[in-house]
Amino acid sequence: MTERIYQLSTREIPKKWLNILPALPRPLEPLRNPQDGSPVPLDAMKPLFAESLLEQEVSSERLITIPEEILKVYSLYRPTPLIRAKFLEEAIGTPAKIFFKNEGVSPTGSHKPNTAIAQAYYNAKEGTTRLTTETGAGQWGSALSFAGAHFGINVKVFMVRVSYEQKPYRRVMMQSYGADVYPSPSDQTKIGRQFLEDPANKPGSLGMAISEAVELAVSDEKTHYALGSVLNHVLLHQTVIGLEARAVLEEIGLLPDVVIGCHGGGSNFGGIMIPFLEDKIEGKRNVDFIASEPMACPTLSKGLYAYDYGDSGKYIPLTKMYTLGHSFVPPEVHAGGLRYHGAAPIISLLNDEKLIRAEALHQLETFEAAVLFAKTEGIIPAPESAHAIASAIRVARQCKETGEEKVILFNLSGHGHFDMAAYEAYISGKLTDYDYPEEEVKKAEAELPKVPQQ
Ligand SMILES: *Cc1c(COP(=O)(O)O)cnc(C)c1O
Repeated sequence: MTERIYQLSTREIPKKWLNILPALPRPLEPLRNPQDGSPVPLDAMKPLFAESLLEQEVSSERLITIPEEILKVYSLYRPTPLIRAKFLEEAIGTPAKIFFKNEGVSPTGSHKPNTAIAQAYYNAKEGTTRLTTETGAGQWGSALSFAGAHFGINVKVFMVRVSYEQKPYRRVMMQSYGADVYPSPSDQTKIGRQFLEDPANKPGSLGMAISEAVELAVSDEKTHYALGSVLNHVLLHQTVIGLEARAVLEEIGLLPDVVIGCHGGGSNFGGIMIPFLEDKIEGKRNVDFIASEPMACPTLSKGLYAYDYGDSGKYIPLTKMYTLGHSFVPPEVHAGGLRYHGAAPIISLLNDEKLIRAEALHQLETFEAAVLFAKTEGIIPAPESAHAIASAIRVARQCKETGEEKVILFNLSGHGHFDMAAYEAYISGKLTDYDYPEEEVKKAEAELPKVPQQ
């Protein structure tokens, strides 16, 4: 423990990830074939993912050792600081104690390297020479480009075209790490050329970019695909966040009453909360887990728990998850990392079991929170992370009314240094709220695949 007053890091990086699969109240449902509804064996995913990662996807081991080579790269930025947000507490006048884990200190500015490094390592070890992926706002593409460069893997990134044009610096960052970046839909793939036949598809979407990356991966044996969220092994790698936070909090004799993360696909939320979840499942401790999402894309609050496609090209088997429908295209909110129609199967099951709850926030409330956070704690948060801050502030304000001294822990998933255009829009009064796009969601939900009964 350092002597610093509000920054509470240890020098310890966890040596094992925490796998929540064996502790879940019921097993996850299998991937299914859209034609006949039959379960898809994991082997079918071998052209896409390294075998070690597929083993982790279904592992029943509670703890999984982090290889030394991964720990070395983690040591570039881990353990990340756990900070007592004392200045924010004072500004609110709350008796609650607010702590946040700062994942924005990673080389690319978010929590995503925690899994990118692991995925690049296992792939390199198994002989993969190229990784393909998609990126929206650019955080995941940057993280995988950095990790690929470290382990000598060529990375090809399909970047949603609107972001490619609006966020040139994220693209240059990926290229600086040596990655090849294409605006998606592109002419590099069959499905990309097909999407481009309809001009309406030109701006692209995450769902289209995933299909392009997957198509390249299946067409070459030494090329694999990497996904930055949603999958079980991604949430597994992200548990380093919560494990570090728990170790420090225990050292000072505290455990959180409330744990909060923003929710896009579920990886940083899973990463911060999973290490506190077993206590709740076993009935030892009641913890309020809050997934904070945008009103414009409220997957967990308003979606259906159903089998759906993860990509627009329908290359990936059906997954049981909370979804707004694979054809739903959310409005252009600035928290680009939270604009995915689906959610991680693990988080979906926890939401269905009411072990967690979701909160949908309007964009303006999140930017008000972001600016208050910047003025008090000094860090300009990513617009995604601002959702978690806003939810934490809501709880802290309730505590002010009730006098409760709750311990609140939230994850600061990234910094907002590449998001100045969004801040400029907010400061100049041009940022607007989007209502929940109920009609569009209804339309998309009507297009959910009909999975044949087994
Ligand atoms: C990608 C991203 C998210 C959303 O992804 P999750 O898988 O839900 O964590 C949130 N915050 C930042 C900074 C991101 O880059």
